[in-house]
Amino acid sequence: MSRRIVIVGNGPAGHRLAELLSARAPDADVTIVGEESVPAYNRVLLPSVLAGRLATQATYLARHPEGSVRVLTGVRVVSVDRHRREVRTGEGMTLAYDDLVLATGAACFLPPLQGLVEEDGRTSKGVVALRTLADCRLVEDQLPVQGRIAVLGGGVLGLEVARALTERGYGVDVVHGGAHAMDRQLGPAAGALLATALDGLHVRVLAGRTATAWTGDRLVLNDGSSVSAGLLIVCAGVVPETSLARDAGLRVQRGVVVDEYLRTSDPHIHALGDCAEVHGEVSGLIAPAWEQAEVLAGALTGERRAYAGTRTITRLKVRGVDLAVIGAGESEVAGAETVVLTDPARGQYARLSVLETRVVGAVLLGLPDSVAQVSRLYDSEDAAPNDRLALLMGWAVPGPAQDPGSLAGQTVICRCSNVTKNDLTTAWLRGARAESDLARATRATTGCGGCRGSVQEICRWLRAKHDQPDADAASSDEEREPPVDRVPPPPVRRNDHRDPVPELLAP
Ligand SMILES: Cc1cc2nc3c(=O)[nH]c(=O)nc-3n(C[C@H](O)[C@H](O)[C@H](O)COP(=O)(O)OP(=O)(O)OC[C@H]3O[C@@H](n4cnc5c(N)ncnc54)[C@H](O)[C@@H]3O)c2cc1C
Repeated sequence: MSRRIVIVGNGPAGHRLAELLSARAPDADVTIVGEESVPAYNRVLLPSVLAGRLATQATYLARHPEGSVRVLTGVRVVSVDRHRREVRTGEGMTLAYDDLVLATGAACFLPPLQGLVEEDGRTSKGVVALRTLADCRLVEDQLPVQGRIAVLGGGVLGLEVARALTERGYGVDVVHGGAHAMDRQLGPAAGALLATALDGLHVRVLAGRTATAWTGDRLVLNDGSSVSAGLLIVCAGVVPETSLARDAGLRVQRGVVVDEYLRTSDPHIHALGDCAEVHGEVSGLIAPAWEQAEVLAGALTGERRAYAGTRTITRLKVRGVDLAVIGAGESEVAGAETVVLTDPARGQYARLSVLETRVVGAVLLGLPDSVAQVSRLYDSEDAAPNDRLALLMGWAVPGPAQDPGSLAGQTVICRCSNVTKNDLTTAWLRGARAESDLARATRATTGCGGCRGSVQEICRWLRAKHDQPDADAASSDEEREPPVDRVPPPPVRRNDHRDPVPELLAP
């Protein structure tokens, strides 16, 4: 009998694992069970859906080859019987396993404020805690005809959601308890410049204040003030979804505790992604989920590679603000040389930490030209050029790390959608010759857009290599038909926020 692998959770982590297993262990009997009724999709792209820039279907992850993986959508696993090695679903179905994988992700954290949730635990009318495509539909259904919108939480997600809504013509107030937006990643200087940039985009950050109550049309703050809002969106952090593991008696702390091979305290059960706690940390980011899927696919097919952590780069997906936090970001790294550059007049800030010639951390605000170079140096661990200033200004002479030809095929170019150089090359060879074609074929560039320059470089390199005319020059992306997965601009709604945005108002 073939080995039965059951994956609980059809999010990016579970989906990627199933995809890898179907390729590497074609004889295994793989079943993936997901509570959401839609196909697996990339949550990272939801702010683009909210902004009306991406259609729902464009977030869907690639389908598994016919017959390779049994996918059960709209089905919740309610218990695990470790003794019998079975899981039970809400509908009473049992699924036997040899190996069970928990990829149950995380749920939104709901801060304890009056009026936020009903007695049955559901969010009150006019409140959406944003995590799923269904939540995006809820936002869509409850968008006020006029008035401002409030967002609770000024972390990366809160700001992305706020900006998505200002793209729709709304004025947005972001209430954030920290000293400034993204205070977990940024120091005061970068925080102040970010606030100015956001203000210019009609995202007003009310920092250093917490919300105490939601009245249905007002958010009351702890300093006695309140903001009027037709809709409240909660982006106040996440809580790993560990209930199945806890009920089954597995070791759970903040997340489901796993070792470096992603094994829980039961050797037949593994966990990965947002629900897992590895090396004492719960990541909450997509790149570790993709990488853990690789490691676990290896572990389940006889390879013994340990998960050693993921090198993270966070790019704020806010149109009009270019911000990247690379590796250690602003945190002090013992023994590292640090270069800091601030130009408030131009809204630019850079902080670079280099340890023994290697980039170990950077924050780059308003410096898009340097992001690709610094990111690649961080990824490749190649020596940073001695002229640090040139690097920060994007003037550094391209080295091997910048030459697409010298990049390994498995190099991840688009971190939001986990697209490698090989994926882009394959798509190009199959006829996707312009950036928009590559975006449609691979989803590269459709998240934060930070990989656009690299995708263009790879396109140019492939053209030169295959001696092809320049597809973009012959027919620029703007002149070509819009990609099918983009949607027409959303209707602009009339708005009465206090700082009118004339260009965003309906005529
Ligand atoms: C709007 C938004 C934007 C984001 N942007 C970024 C970004 O720019 N960069 C970044 O790095 N990260 C981002 N993230 C975080 C990123 O999406 C997550 O890290 C990633 O989705 C984790 O994948 P996962 O598969 O572990 O968990 P999830 O995506 O949470 O998927 C888990 C799935 O398991 C299902 N499930 C749970 N319990 C059960 C059960 N008992 N039975 C059946 N199914 C179950 C859930 O319904 C869910 O579908 C964003 C998240 C959101 C919500």
